[in-house]
Amino acid sequence: MAEQNYASKLERYDKQNIWHPFTPMREWLDHDQLVIIRGDGDYLYDQHGRRYIDGVSSLWVTTLGHRHPALNRAIVRQLDKIAHSTLLGLGNEPAALLAGELVRIAPRGLTKVFYSDNGSTAVEAALKIAFQYWRQKTKPVMSKTKFITLANSYHGDTVGSVSAGNIELFHKTYKPLLFKTLALPLDYDRDASYNLRAAANVFRRHHRHVAALVMEPLVQGAGGMLVHPPGYLRGIARLCRKYGVLLILDEVATGFGRTGSLFACEQEGVSPDLLVLAKGITGGYLPLAATLATRRVYDAFLGDPKQNRTFFHGHTYSGNPLACAVALENLRQLRKRRVLQKLRPKIRLFQSWLSTLSSSDHVGQIRQKGFMVGIDLVKSRRRGQLYPPDLRVGARVSQACRPLGLIIRPLGNTLVLMPPLTISNKNIGKMVSSVGQAIANHCL
Ligand code: PLP
Repeated sequence: MAEQNYASKLERYDKQNIWHPFTPMREWLDHDQLVIIRGDGDYLYDQHGRRYIDGVSSLWVTTLGHRHPALNRAIVRQLDKIAHSTLLGLGNEPAALLAGELVRIAPRGLTKVFYSDNGSTAVEAALKIAFQYWRQKTKPVMSKTKFITLANSYHGDTVGSVSAGNIELFHKTYKPLLFKTLALPLDYDRDASYNLRAAANVFRRHHRHVAALVMEPLVQGAGGMLVHPPGYLRGIARLCRKYGVLLILDEVATGFGRTGSLFACEQEGVSPDLLVLAKGITGGYLPLAATLATRRVYDAFLGDPKQNRTFFHGHTYSGNPLACAVALENLRQLRKRRVLQKLRPKIRLFQSWLSTLSSSDHVGQIRQKGFMVGIDLVKSRRRGQLYPPDLRVGARVSQACRPLGLIIRPLGNTLVLMPPLTISNKNIGKMVSSVGQAIANHCL
C-alpha cells in the first residue's frame, strides 16, 4: 500500500510540476504515465517495478547498458576527488585525459577539443567557430557568412542549431528568429552521383558566401532515420574541399558505435574540419559534448589577447570532471570489451528480425544503418496509402509496446529502434517481435 501511494505521488508530482520536452502536455496530463525508478543492462524499471527493454537507449545515449559497474565506479572514483571545477581559466584532470583520448580515436587531423554539455550547444559552437574562422584566418574572407544544410536536417534546439535544421514540424514556428541557410535537396531513391550533381550546383553558385556545410554523416536520425546513398558523404567532402567550404559533421546521434563503426564518417574515409560529439560519449550517464577542430581552424584563434581572436563562447559545466571521467571509462570499456567487434553479428541478427516485419501491409520502408533503425508505418503498403499524420499512429503503436515490455519513441509515423550496443541477442528478438505485435494490434 505504501509503495502504491509512493507511485501515485510520483505521478502526481510529475503531472503537476514537470513540463516535458517535445511532449503534447494536454495528452500527457490525460494518461497514466511511467516514472522510471531504476535501470539495469538492457532494462528500465518503472514506479510499479515493471520492466521494459530500453529500445531507444534513453534517447540514443546508452551504450553499454544501464547501471554498468565500471561506469558507476568511474563516477564514484571521481566524486572522491572533485565533482566540478570550471574549465574557464583552469584545467581539470579528466577533461585533459579525455581530450587526449578523443584526439587519439577521432578521424585524422582533429587535434583540438572544445567541450560543452549537450549536442545543440556543441553544434552551436561549431557554427560560430566556422563563421569566426573565415574572419580571422591569415587572409580573411569576410563574405563567408552562410551555411549549407541538408533537407530534413536536425541539429538541436538552440536558435543556431534550429537555424541549421529543416524539419517543418519542429522548426516552422521559429522561422522569424532564425538565420537563413542553403538547404541541399536530397532524393533518397536516387544514387549519390545524382544527388551530388544537385549539390555541386549549389556549391558553384554560392561558395563565395559559404562558411561551412553541416550534416549528419550516413544517416539523418531525427529526420526519420534517413540513410544516405553510399558515396554521398565522400562526394560532399570532396565538394567542400574543392570550393573552400568547411565541413562540420554532426555525429551527436551517429557517434560512438551506433552505425557499426566508432564514428560514421570512418565508413567513407572522411575527416571533417569540425566534428560534433555528444549523446553516447558518456555511455548515457551524464551530459557532455565536444566539438573537435583541426589545427588549421584552431590556429585562426591564436594571437595577442588585444587582437580579440578569442572564441568568446563557453558553458558553466563545460568539461565537467564527473562527465569526462565516465566518458573516459566508456571509451575504455568499448575498447576492452571489444563492443564494436561484437556488434557486427548483432547488426545482422537485428536485420534478419526486422525482415520478419515486412509481412505486415502496415510496414512500409524499413531503414537500418547498424543499430539505427526506422520503420515507416503506412495504411497499406500494397495500395501505396499513407496514414494522415494527425492519426498519430507512430505514437499509438509506441505506446502499445509498453504493456509488451518495450519502451520506444517514434518520429512521426516512423518507429525508431536504437537499443544499447550491448543488448542481448534474445532481447533484439523480443524487441522486434513486440513491435510486430503492437503493429498487428494497433494498425488498422
Ligand atoms: N544533433 C543531432 C544529430 C541530434 O540527433 C541531436 C539530438 O537528438 C542534437 C544534435 C541535439 O542534441 P541535444 O539534444 O543533446 O541538444
